[in-house]
Amino acid sequence: MSQLQEKIKALAKDQSQDIIAHRHHLHSNPELSFEEFKTAKYVASELTAIGLQPEEGIAGTGVVAIIEGRNPGKRIVGLRADMDALPILEANDVPYKSTVPGVMHACGHDVHTSSLLGTARILHALREEFEGTIKLVFQPAEEKAPGGASLMIKEGVLENPRPASMVGQHVAPNIPVGKIGFREGMYMASTDELYLTVKGKGGHAAAPHQLVDPVLMASHIIVALQQIISRNRNPANPSVLSFGRFIADGVTNVIPNEVTIQGTWRCMDEEWREDGLRRMKKMAESIAEGMGGSCEFEIVKGYPFLKNHPELTRRTRTAAVGYMGAENVIDLDLWMAGEDFAFYSQVVDSCFYRLGTRNEARGIISGVHTPTFDIDESALEISTGLMSWLAISELNA
Ligand SMILES: [Zn+2]
Ligand SMILES: [Zn+2]
Repeated sequence: MSQLQEKIKALAKDQSQDIIAHRHHLHSNPELSFEEFKTAKYVASELTAIGLQPEEGIAGTGVVAIIEGRNPGKRIVGLRADMDALPILEANDVPYKSTVPGVMHACGHDVHTSSLLGTARILHALREEFEGTIKLVFQPAEEKAPGGASLMIKEGVLENPRPASMVGQHVAPNIPVGKIGFREGMYMASTDELYLTVKGKGGHAAAPHQLVDPVLMASHIIVALQQIISRNRNPANPSVLSFGRFIADGVTNVIPNEVTIQGTWRCMDEEWREDGLRRMKKMAESIAEGMGGSCEFEIVKGYPFLKNHPELTRRTRTAAVGYMGAENVIDLDLWMAGEDFAFYSQVVDSCFYRLGTRNEARGIISGVHTPTFDIDESALEISTGLMSWLAISELNA
């Protein structure tokens, strides 16, 4: 083990209780997307206490700070944490339980934020030991469109100075604590929301010849849209189309005037994402028109797909093996959920990895976005040191 790695591990261990305290504070005081005011203040004051000069108010509540090593212009690596919580009522009975009814850090963003605060302290302490610059990015609203990442990019977070790469992590309740997961290339999906209103002419169900039945139209539309993927897309590259809402609010003998449908469209290719949307809209409108009705097809654009830059991810994975041991570094499967870190990955070389937080023996097994989500907090000492090591390794690469 290198001397520097030993130093990082010692610094992570020294402050492990502080990082847990940060996490408890943030967990007890969760704030919803774009409302992370107290969280941002907390982050900024901790960064100031470390000796940094944070810039606040980017995209509302975003906070950015710079740590310069020797020769700061040589290379710049960005490290990102998200800060927002979810509209979920916490069901855990823990001392650090949410004090805000109906709001909970159920996606582990409190973990990402407290971990990056710890990493900031380590990297600041070791700034004479690396060349280049670290850009710390604490962003709002990962959970809510248009995504804090996209707004921070619009406000210039990837400029002045421009990071050569961005690195981010996410808790993984399906991976045992002590392990870390990587995947090169496409990793998470783009996410777009679909809102369809299929319009016909309702009336007595016994006289269909006098009506334009929107229930039948909508049923055809659902089936036809699914077939767009199977007939137009290379099956080697995944797409998902799912409809979770289909409301035809008639009764046994009344056909309604309209049917509303809501769904989600996910894929891992920006060109196909647009092509698929164009085809779905045309198909839905044509079917409705062909059957004598109409269809309003509204698309609410979400996040792009997340691509992990292959070489950066390979280097980062190798560095993680050096820090954790090969037996603790695993390969991830594709995951069709969305993540706004994807916006960075569309602009600069990026690597997004998973931090194991599961502990079956202690019953810490709940998934993210559930009221019983929690983590094994020994993950924090690992993540704090690991991200420091990964950043320094990348700067020295
Ligand atoms: Zn989430
Ligand atoms: Zn999340």
